[in-house]
Amino acid sequence: MKKSIQYGSSLIEFDLEFSDRKTLGIKVHPDKRVQVSAPFDSTEAKVNKKIYSKASWIIKQQDFFLSFHPLTPPRKYVSGETHLYLGKQYRLRLVQSEEESVKLYSGYITVQCKDKEDKRTIEKLLKKWYRDKAEMHFYILFKKRVSQMIPSKDSSTSLALKWMSKRWGICNSQSQVTLNIELIKAPKKCIEYVIVHELCHLSYLNHSKSFYNLLEKHFPNWKNTKYQLEHFMV
Ligand SMILES: [Zn+2]
Repeated sequence: MKKSIQYGSSLIEFDLEFSDRKTLGIKVHPDKRVQVSAPFDSTEAKVNKKIYSKASWIIKQQDFFLSFHPLTPPRKYVSGETHLYLGKQYRLRLVQSEEESVKLYSGYITVQCKDKEDKRTIEKLLKKWYRDKAEMHFYILFKKRVSQMIPSKDSSTSLALKWMSKRWGICNSQSQVTLNIELIKAPKKCIEYVIVHELCHLSYLNHSKSFYNLLEKHFPNWKNTKYQLEHFMV
């Protein structure tokens, strides 16, 4: 069941479930969701008290995750609608043509297509365009940061791109960094921040103090950039 408590100015929402366990467990997921499992015999007051005592830890965990929160309402793919690219807003212009193409110039993203009402094709063309741009920009920034942060002798680091709904980036134990193509809509600085964040995970696969020290070293202004990334779509 959905519950919440007020902690200072923050409302902490959580999913509460009861199970056969002795102590209360709190899990903070990458999408900031808080899941609480309580023993069958615990009362709501007891649960709330415990959540309250853990509130600052929960908020810290939520802030630590580099998660993806779509703040943009769904696009309709009609002329005049704004679409983001590298942190700037562009108007969409649909042009009827036998040829299919996407071009960016003078404040417009112009999509040429056979049928201006065919939203699915327009969405497909735009997504393909975003992917192409992401491939170009992400690889340049990735290469730059890898060369700065990782000694060339043990650089087996690779980059992959994917549309993801929950994360900006992922780093796995095989040294592969996956970036969300959606990031191409954010300012370059934010893309670079996500890359540095993920590359720091090559040294620490957690969000420990050492991880943040390393991040601080390679990206001193990361807190502001992270904030910008999480709010740029508003
Ligand atoms: Zn991380």
